[in-house]
Amino acid sequence: MVKVVKFGGSSLASADQFRKVKDIIKADPDRRFVVPSAPGKRHSADTKVTDMLYSCYALAEQDADFDDALSAIKKRYVEIIDGLGMNLSLDKEFDTLRADFKAHAGREYAASRGEYLNGIVLAAYLGFPFIDSAEYIFFSQDGTFRAEETNAALSEKLRDMKNAVIPGFYGSLPDGRVKTFSRGGSDITGSVVARAVQANLYENWTDVSGCLVTDPRIVENPKVIDVITYRELRELAYMGFNVLHEDAIFPVRTAGIPINIKNTNSPKDPGTLIVENTSRKPSFTITGVAGKKGFTAINVEKDMMNAEIGFGRRLLQAFEDNGISFEHMPSGIDTMTVVVHQTEFEAKEQTVLAEIHKLCNPDAIDISTDIALIAVVGRGMKSNRGVAARIFSALDRASINIRMIDQGSSELNIIIGVSNTDFEDAINVIYHAFVQ
Ligand code: ASP
Repeated sequence: MVKVVKFGGSSLASADQFRKVKDIIKADPDRRFVVPSAPGKRHSADTKVTDMLYSCYALAEQDADFDDALSAIKKRYVEIIDGLGMNLSLDKEFDTLRADFKAHAGREYAASRGEYLNGIVLAAYLGFPFIDSAEYIFFSQDGTFRAEETNAALSEKLRDMKNAVIPGFYGSLPDGRVKTFSRGGSDITGSVVARAVQANLYENWTDVSGCLVTDPRIVENPKVIDVITYRELRELAYMGFNVLHEDAIFPVRTAGIPINIKNTNSPKDPGTLIVENTSRKPSFTITGVAGKKGFTAINVEKDMMNAEIGFGRRLLQAFEDNGISFEHMPSGIDTMTVVVHQTEFEAKEQTVLAEIHKLCNPDAIDISTDIALIAVVGRGMKSNRGVAARIFSALDRASINIRMIDQGSSELNIIIGVSNTDFEDAINVIYHAFVQ
């Protein structure tokens, strides 16, 4: 077995956390390749090293004094090194960093040093070789990730290595400059490394015991999802479910490698397994429920719409011409509704409406705003009767008015529109209709 283990910022925020990480890695010899993030927050009011680097570099870029800001960053690492009783100096690295900042080496280079330095510390602490991601993870000059070139170089490099620490978040451009993925991008590096070594499992270690069935800010203590498919995760991620960087899914999904979300602070918890497919039924019929506020529904009515060829295309054209992407489109016989993000629509409202009139000649247009959309997602819905009934009667019992319903043809989700003000109540009610 080969496992790639990625540790997030909070898992590597202090010497204590480093100790937990080492215990986890040493407990299983299959955990051979390690991808660290930069040190994250030690407590809720703390600042992530990545953010400290961005601020420090902003000063350097204006040729302002950045000594204090850089010392504060160095202090974070020195505290970890001293706390672990290690004999390691980062003086040379920080001298280079200072010179590079003075020479305006770039914002992404600056941010990447969080992972780079943490990788050096972690490699020394584990006794594993350190590999600089800039040499093996490649981007095109336009900034797109070069998946195949990276995979070839990285698999070649790691083929005969027993262990390695490969820092997350960055790689390099053809001209040699450092380029980062978007925020949270160490997840992507972990996934890319897992593909390169053809891992059996990609363990993504964080500070929660897996993906939760719903948002813990809305429902108290929600249950953990034991197994979720990539498609279910995608549906929930679209609604703001955020456990993993979205782009981290593709490399492992195509290679058929499952991801296990695990908790560094509670390593015995099984966490959540993310897989391509499974015969395991979800524990609660539904897999998850998530949602977002702030949608507008534009409802267009026209007699005999059903017989008018091209009506839908012309209606969507009015949105396309104004650069507005539509999120959903439930329809009736003589009505069609286009659901869009409220803020996106408001800015261009009158132009869009004028264009709908011109292109579609409707009998009436009705606009509803302040709609929240809730996605109830689950592979178990297809084979279970009465899921919709359970959702709607629960909402009815709570006197929550349903403003829209849309079921995807995959039968993987039901999308429900309610008023923004009913959003939290609706999520609670739906959650408790399935999880007792
Ligand atoms: N350190 C980077 C960030 O804060 C990348 C990561 O942690 O995944 O976004």
